[in-house]
Formats: sequence, structure tokens, C-alpha cells
Amino acid sequence: MDKATPKDLFQANRNRAAPLLKQLRADGIGHMIDGKIVPSISGDSFETKSPVDGAVLATVARGGAEDIDRAATAAALAFRSWRDMPPAMRKKLLHRVADAIEDRADDIAVLECIDTGQAHRFMAKAAIRAAENFRFFADKCAEARDGLNTPSEEHWNISTRVPIGPVGVITPWNTPFMLSTWKIAPALAAGCTVVHKPAEWSPITADLLAKLVKQAGVPDGVLNTVHGIGEEAGKALTEHPAIKAIGFVGESATGSAIMAQGAPTLKRVHFELGGKNPVIVFDDADLDRALDAVVFMIYSLNGERCTSSSRLLVQDSIAEKFIEKLTARVKALKVGHPLDPATEIGPLIHERHLAKVCAYFDVARKDGAVIAVGGKTHDGPGGGHYVQPTLVTGAHAKMRVAQEEVFGPFLTVIPFRDEKDAVEIANGVQYGLTGYVWTGDMGRALRVADALEAGMIWLNSENVRHLPTPFGGMKSSGIGRDGGDYSFDFYMETKHVSLARGTHKIQKLGSPSS
Ligand code: NAD
Repeated sequence: MDKATPKDLFQANRNRAAPLLKQLRADGIGHMIDGKIVPSISGDSFETKSPVDGAVLATVARGGAEDIDRAATAAALAFRSWRDMPPAMRKKLLHRVADAIEDRADDIAVLECIDTGQAHRFMAKAAIRAAENFRFFADKCAEARDGLNTPSEEHWNISTRVPIGPVGVITPWNTPFMLSTWKIAPALAAGCTVVHKPAEWSPITADLLAKLVKQAGVPDGVLNTVHGIGEEAGKALTEHPAIKAIGFVGESATGSAIMAQGAPTLKRVHFELGGKNPVIVFDDADLDRALDAVVFMIYSLNGERCTSSSRLLVQDSIAEKFIEKLTARVKALKVGHPLDPATEIGPLIHERHLAKVCAYFDVARKDGAVIAVGGKTHDGPGGGHYVQPTLVTGAHAKMRVAQEEVFGPFLTVIPFRDEKDAVEIANGVQYGLTGYVWTGDMGRALRVADALEAGMIWLNSENVRHLPTPFGGMKSSGIGRDGGDYSFDFYMETKHVSLARGTHKIQKLGSPSS
């Protein structure tokens, strides 16, 4: 048989999406509360629209405080039996969730593309990564409770960990399926029950996840999903007294709001927030590999990626040549329909987000920077929220385009003199999520890694995730770490237990001998 052409694959993706979208339009999306799909108590709903052509994809239940209350109550009721389920059984169920995700991987990929505008080449593996999240944490179910033995002279001291209780998980719209599983899988493995509030701009695969978790046999009430607006359903979740902790991924300003909202009920919070991440290219680097990584880390996933390297810091001595090559690559990027396998950049998720990204074209010009490539919307198939991949040069470190998160295919280039200068510029922003360093000098690579104010550093590499490693940011980029055992630190309470070894002396207050 002849090999399928990109055109065939594009058609195959459309054919796969069509019946799924038809079903969604017919059924709409409800909340999953205590194992049942239900509308909002108020009867309110909102529409989710395609970034490709603005067509309504589904009518979605718009949750409010009373729906959150129902979901939190269900999560609280389910907590005890989920917590006490033998870890081997929980492990089996979470592996079954992974199986269910893998079975629907191709459906999840096309739905994610249509709901978010992300290109299929990046979404094709999103479900597989999500399944890996479940498998990785499934295998850790038993060890989640492990603690330490720290004996002292008179006591055996042991610590153990217990799940904190029902938790809230609030997620954003960029790669929503993979990101949701990254938070939900460790919570469930720890023995917590969950109320998930997915982003209102991308509800479709969150609905599918809730159904797959139920289909896998996870008991009712263990994962509840309430759709709705951040300031309504999201806010109510952060304020609910039965919810013991909030795992949140989103903007830094929303993180601040959640911290304030959760304060009266003393919520534990875990924040994965925004970034303005530097990629630093020194003149002794492997410049071809550096160029590939620079382009990939800002123009993949539409630049809607918290770990994107949105600031290129390039050494003076090579800046001109490097920018010349970069310019050619950015000009050649393929903007197109998200289901087209040839597409490198799809439409941005929402007209409001498109407007935000486009506003930075004027910001760049007003600041006196140069838009070397792009700087306009793009007339793409379906007439949706397409934007030209944009490269801004002639910038300096204090400009808004060098300071603020654009969250689009938008790269700002800032030249630097030497190592000290590079580190100063890299650290001169409010964010501190990731940093990327390209150099042939390993001593320098380690010095710079040590000096950068960021939670994650890659040396001579783009961002490659490894699930046991800590994921999270410093400064305005976050609080806490996910990954491996770090996730359990958040979803569990550490409990100290001390047993007297013998009959050590106890003070006898109130007795004649005291
Ligand atoms: P957002 O903060 O606007 O929304 C995220 C979620 O919070 C949504 O579900 C939203 O409904 C909810 N929300 C909004 N206001 C709320 C409130 N007052 N109370 C409770 N919930 C509320 O973020 P976004 O625009 O959806 O996502 C983009 C942002 O996410 C970017 O800043 C990006 O850098 C960040 N992000 C960070 C990471 C990371 O790991 N650090 C990963 C992905 C995205």
C-alpha cells in the first residue's frame, strides 16, 4: 500500500473529528458529579467555540457555588473509602485509566486540536503523555505513604504520610488534557479525591477525561468535574471548606487571587504560573542545535506554553549571524489548520487571546523595538484566530516585550556582552520558571545554572520532561514542585509518630517529688 500523504492524514483527522463533534453538539457538556453527568442547578450554560472558524462546538454547563458544593460534598463522601482502598487496588484502577486514555488517544488528539487550536503534530502524543502520567503515579501508590525512621535515644520516631483530603484542581487551556492529568493523577494516587475545574475555553477533553476515569471503574465521587467561569465556579472551589488544598496552573495574577480567596479556609496551595523564560546562547555553543531549540521552544504549541523560551539572550559577537538564520526559520514556519499534519502553528485559542498577543505588536513598536518577522494576524483556513509567528529584535531588557508574558508565538531577542551581563538580564524579570543555556564550556554552563533564578534549567537542551524530576517555578512563576515524590509532599500530610523505647524520665508536676 502507498504511504499516506499529509493530505490523506489531514483528511483522516477531519474524518475522525467529524462524528465526535456531531455528538458533542448534540449532547452538550455537563458536570460529572458523583459519577453522574448533570446540568448546573441554575440551568445556566455557555458555548465553547472553535478557534478555527468560530463555530459553536458545544453548549457547556456553567457551574456556580451550588454545583461546586455538590461536587465537594461528593468528593468528601468518597474520600474515606478511596483513602483506605489498598494501594494495589488503586494502582490497578489508575492503570485502567491509562489504558482507557490510550484506547482513545487519537480521538483525544483531534478534539484537543479543535478545542484549543494546537497543531496536531504536537497533540498527537498528548494523550500518550497523559496516560504516562497516570501509569507513573499508579506505580507510586504504595510508596506514597512512606516516611522516615529517625530514632532518638528514648524514642522510635517514625513519620508517615496520609492524603490531605478532597482537593481542588484548577487548570488552564493550553494543552489542557495533558496538564489536567499531571495534577489529577498524583492526587488520586496519593488517596485524595478531586474536584476539577477546567478552563472555560477548553472544556471538551476534561469532559472526556471524567468519563474515561468513570469507565475505568474509579468509584463515583473520586473525580468530579465542574465546568464554568474562573470567577464563579473556580472561586467557589477555592473557598469551599471541604476542599483542603488547591492545585492551580494558570496566570500569576490568578494565583494571587486564589491565595486571597483561600485564606479564610487556610487552603494549602500549589501554583504553576506564568513565565518569561530566557534561552541564553553563548558564542561557543553548538549554534545549529541551539537554533533548533530556540525555534522549537517558542514556536511549538503556538507559543502558549509556560516553559517557552520567549526571550532569546544572544551573545553580541554572534548576534547578527544567529538572528539572520533565526529570521529565515521564523519566516518559513507553517501556519495552518490544527488538524493538518504539516501545520506548525495553529490558530490561537480565543479572540480575546488573539487580541492580547496582537496588542504586543504595538507595544514593541512603541518601545522602539523592531518587528523583524510577523507582527500581524494571519489569514488562515476557516478565518479563525491565526497570527503570524513574530520575531522582535532591537530590544533591551527593560522593554515590556522583554518583561511581560505574551503567551503566543512571539520571541524577543536581547543581545548580551558576557556571562555576568547574561545572568543579570536573565534574572531581571518577575518570573523564574525555566532557563535554557547553550555553551560549549561546561564550567560556565554550571555556573550560569547556579546563578539563574529559575526552578528548572536545561543545559544544551530544549525542555525534555522526566516525570521523577521536580517541576515548578520561583518568584512569580509558582509555589511548590510537582513530579515524582514532590507531588506527594503537596497532596499529603506528613504525620510524626513517636513511641517510647522504655521508661524514660517524665517530669512529675504536682507530685511531692517534683
Ligand atoms: P488563567 O489564570 O486565566 O486561568 C486558569 C484557570 O483558573 C482557569 O480554569 C480559570 O477559569 C481559573 N480561574 C480564573 N480566575 C479564577 C479565580 N478567581 N478563582 C479560581 N479560578 C480562577 O490562565 P489561562 O489564561 O487559562 O492560562 C495561561 C496561563 O497559565 C499562562 O500564564 C501560563 O504561563 C500559565 N501556565 C503555567 C504553567 C506552569 O506549569 N507554570 C503551565 C501551563 C500554563
